[in-house]
Amino acid sequence: MRRNLLVVAAVLSCLITGCTAGAAATTSDVGSSSEANRPTGASLSTTGAGAVPPTRNVILMIGDGLGDSEITMARNYAVGAAGRLAIDEFPHTAASTTFSVLRGTETPDYVTDSAAAASAWATGHRTYNGALSIDPVTSAPLPTILEKARDAGLRTGSVTTAALTDATPAALVAHLPSRGCQGPADMSGCPAAAGASGPGSIAEQSIHSGADILLGGGKAVFDQPVIAGGPRVLDEARQRGYRVVRDLDGLDDAPPGAPILGLFASGHLTPVWSGPTAQPYPGPAATRCTDPNPDVPAGQPRLADLTTAALTRLSAGDDPPGFFLQVEGALIDKQSHEADPCGQIGEIVEFDRAVRAARDWARDHPDTLIVVTGDHAQAVQILPQQTDSDHSPGAVSTLITADGQPMVVGYATNLPDRVMNHTGTQVPVLAAGPSADRIAGVLDETDLHSVLAQALGLPE
Ligand code: MG
Ligand code: ZN
Repeated sequence: MRRNLLVVAAVLSCLITGCTAGAAATTSDVGSSSEANRPTGASLSTTGAGAVPPTRNVILMIGDGLGDSEITMARNYAVGAAGRLAIDEFPHTAASTTFSVLRGTETPDYVTDSAAAASAWATGHRTYNGALSIDPVTSAPLPTILEKARDAGLRTGSVTTAALTDATPAALVAHLPSRGCQGPADMSGCPAAAGASGPGSIAEQSIHSGADILLGGGKAVFDQPVIAGGPRVLDEARQRGYRVVRDLDGLDDAPPGAPILGLFASGHLTPVWSGPTAQPYPGPAATRCTDPNPDVPAGQPRLADLTTAALTRLSAGDDPPGFFLQVEGALIDKQSHEADPCGQIGEIVEFDRAVRAARDWARDHPDTLIVVTGDHAQAVQILPQQTDSDHSPGAVSTLITADGQPMVVGYATNLPDRVMNHTGTQVPVLAAGPSADRIAGVLDETDLHSVLAQALGLPE
């Protein structure tokens, strides 16, 4: 009720002050206009009984494996060293630590994986690598930001370029000791969750979550039967009211208000750019990347289009209740594991387009908080020119950037013929909109949960 009154007040104020979409678009901080419209009693530090939720919508955008090295590499390549990407244009920035804990303890594990990292912002609690939104000692399920938003009557959504059962989207909706428990046939790491009495696999918990929008890959997992010989997870999703769509047209044609399960690939989506993988010195000949990657299947949707479609549906109606939406650029990380700089840069640029689409949408919806971050950093480093006597012991690659200059990048977190590893450094956090001023200084990934929950007036 108070949320609705606040919105009416904001609309009236906009009518009086001429706060049109066009005027808002001239403001570098899209939050500043709604900030002025918020009752002065709505300080985020007073979120007890009677506090006014200051934010109607939250968009959390995750670049998997998006640290400072990755951003700088993509900027240099795509727009030049002095250019600026959409992710460079946020009014509020901070740093976030990214460590996880060892199983059964609160002892730091300095290099997180995506499951523990996503669990941190999803629940406000650290867990161990591989675990999804459970306590690291007791294994008790911990409520997630998506579940809290759902329980408060908000709409919820998750969009990813990975399989929807991959770790980052899974941590929003599933509580399991192993990220490998993707479908009913994959439950060896989660015996207590399997069977008729257990909560089931990630795919099953995803469709039990009540999320309004689930968009990504992973059809092969949802095609698994819930019980051998019985209906598939996909069939159960339909029984629960989900409209299952396979392409953007299907998404556009789905009736308004229907919950959507969009499965756009058998596994992960295909990276939008391609090029040679890094190799031991001297590496492949200097090159530009191939855009688009010729292996992208016809009709594979773009992350920006999925983001806009999700925003349109989550905000539909005369008096929408507000929403929590997570959007993940997942393949940044996956291509970095493969020492594939072009694939990695293409996915950062793809994610950046989605960020721009979200910022554009928020200009017409100034009661929207956008937070962008990475879950952990990855292997890549920008290196000086390599010589016979002085070069990386890892894998290197040379790309010709938008500046017309050669940029050497190296991957050396593992032996050059092995899968590259994550790194344990802090990552940037970017924010715009109401409550964005909470994104300042050095945060922890668990702090993001508090910021998002408080912004939406949810329990922490
Ligand atoms: Mg991920
Ligand atoms: Zn990874």
